[in-house]
Amino acid sequence: MSPRTHVPALVALLCMLAAAPALAATDFTVHVDARETPRGLLHVTQSFPGRSGTVSLTYPRWIPGEHGPTGPNVDVAGLVVRAGGKVVPWRRDLVDMQTIRVDVPSGTKSVDVAFDFLLDNSTDGFTSAACATPNLLLLSWNEVAFFPTGGKSDALRCEASLTLPDHWQYGTALESGPASGATIKFEPCTFTTLVDSPVLCGRYFKTVDLAPGDSVPVRLRMACDSEEGLNIPDAQVDALRNLVREAKSLFGTQHFHHYDFLMTLSEQTAHFGLEHHQSSDDRARERTWLDDDLRRNNSNLLSHEFVHSWNGKFRRPAGLSTDDYFTPMQGDLLWVYEGLTQYLGFVLAARSGIRTPDEARDALASAAADMEAHRGREWRPLVDTGTEAQLLYEARGAWEYARRSTDFYDEGLLIWLDADVLIRTQSKGQKSLDDFCKRFHGGPNRGPEVKPYTLNDVIAALQATWPYDWAGFLRQRVYTVQPHAPTNGITAGGWRMTWKDSLGPIQKAREVANKTVEEPYTLGIRVDDEKAKIIDVVPGSPADEAGLAPDMKLTAVNGRKYSSDVLRDAIAASPRTGRVELLCDNKGFFKTFTLDYRDGRRNPAITRDNGVRDHVSEILAPHVKQPADVGARSLP
Ligand SMILES: [Zn+2]
Repeated sequence: MSPRTHVPALVALLCMLAAAPALAATDFTVHVDARETPRGLLHVTQSFPGRSGTVSLTYPRWIPGEHGPTGPNVDVAGLVVRAGGKVVPWRRDLVDMQTIRVDVPSGTKSVDVAFDFLLDNSTDGFTSAACATPNLLLLSWNEVAFFPTGGKSDALRCEASLTLPDHWQYGTALESGPASGATIKFEPCTFTTLVDSPVLCGRYFKTVDLAPGDSVPVRLRMACDSEEGLNIPDAQVDALRNLVREAKSLFGTQHFHHYDFLMTLSEQTAHFGLEHHQSSDDRARERTWLDDDLRRNNSNLLSHEFVHSWNGKFRRPAGLSTDDYFTPMQGDLLWVYEGLTQYLGFVLAARSGIRTPDEARDALASAAADMEAHRGREWRPLVDTGTEAQLLYEARGAWEYARRSTDFYDEGLLIWLDADVLIRTQSKGQKSLDDFCKRFHGGPNRGPEVKPYTLNDVIAALQATWPYDWAGFLRQRVYTVQPHAPTNGITAGGWRMTWKDSLGPIQKAREVANKTVEEPYTLGIRVDDEKAKIIDVVPGSPADEAGLAPDMKLTAVNGRKYSSDVLRDAIAASPRTGRVELLCDNKGFFKTFTLDYRDGRRNPAITRDNGVRDHVSEILAPHVKQPADVGARSLP
């Protein structure tokens, strides 16, 4: 359509705007003074329009993307409420701990709230865990804002501002207004947009353009505890630029006006990723870009979070599409929300070159073997790991193989690979899951919006992509107890699960980054190498049969003091010795356990099956022709 044909429509739109009522006044303001971040304190002030009677305010509890009631209201301290400038007493709801009430006299022009937010230093958890150091801060607005109780986040309009320590820079998907000294004023927005738009700021800060010349900007913003850690290699910048192009090609569209990867690089913060419509909160180790093992261990992070802009933010299960931060969420479709994202993030990391083909295959073999070892699959179906996700995210590592964990990620990956290969095989390469993505996640780019779905919508979109009994396919894999991991996508995709006697690149990176020794497929144990402590035991494994348990300390292996090398040497020698003896300290009581094991080293791998078309390699190969030279990498 030519620009000329737009004119009548534009005139009509202007008339509608003129007739529409004025935009609702701001429902509240929130100002954060972050200058005491190095002490772990944020000073918050909020202002709400005055009204007489009882004013009720709620602190966000159910946090999008965390799929659980993780809003950290225990870290709100020093709460003082003023009505018309005078301090008034507040009281907490006796049942809902997130809600407070104050009685204000008539004629009150504004209700002002002041409190400190106490930054947590724990590295276990998500946004409520460590997010700051003396050099940087990732500010999640849900932690620093009460909202009028019962308000729908789309309907609440708010104005936010932020005062930074001297000489700090920042990045966010929020639109910034003019700065006033050290205080940034953001454009008024809905509470949904505010909570969806964290701010990354810090002393050592760098921005990299990932979509040069594109009308929809995509940027990598990094804050680090050192200048050195910001030095992302050029090859990784090129791969991330490929990621932007490959993702747009996969989905056929974007659902953001601009996108910012907000990457925290620190040893002191929690490490995870959290998706947003127009940004992601990506937290990794300080030297991620400098150390190949740390980089490989994180090589799924940015592609996974980027996919979420389409799958999770734009398309979202109805049970997770709540319209406030108060209503409980339902996670039974997390095998789509997270599982499909895990699959597409895995695919795009390979297509873009973030991972080499060998690394991608190693990640696939590792995921399949790990899901097979999660013997909790014998008592609970995959869907139940999603339904209980709000508890499983917080569960300890001990007995994870017996309990199952948030298996909807990696088992979701395997199931969606299975679906992709099935479509490719039956359609003789004419259709693929790429077609499903264009259908399910497509449509015009109107910026952030949510299009909820149900299980039936997923089945219908699969059916429209390729006719098959998709309800039966999913009933068997997701909703029924299955004694074995769904590895059909690997075998029908042209590969076989095998073992090799050394760690693959992703497996090695995981051990180096996490300081663990992973032997679930031999003796049946995971070990915390620094503490020489058993993290978990696989049910039915030699370790289980011998009576080992999580939290036992490995003191000696075959009579010699424990080290990872001594343990691995004993496993390698097992075809000759026929057993491995472990001396363990169990809460101060020592005992030798004899493990009946004779199969030597076994690390999962996949090996090509030449009799079957290599769908896996076709799926992982680059789909978009990359420009030879894309110009300067860093923005000024
Ligand atoms: Zn995710």
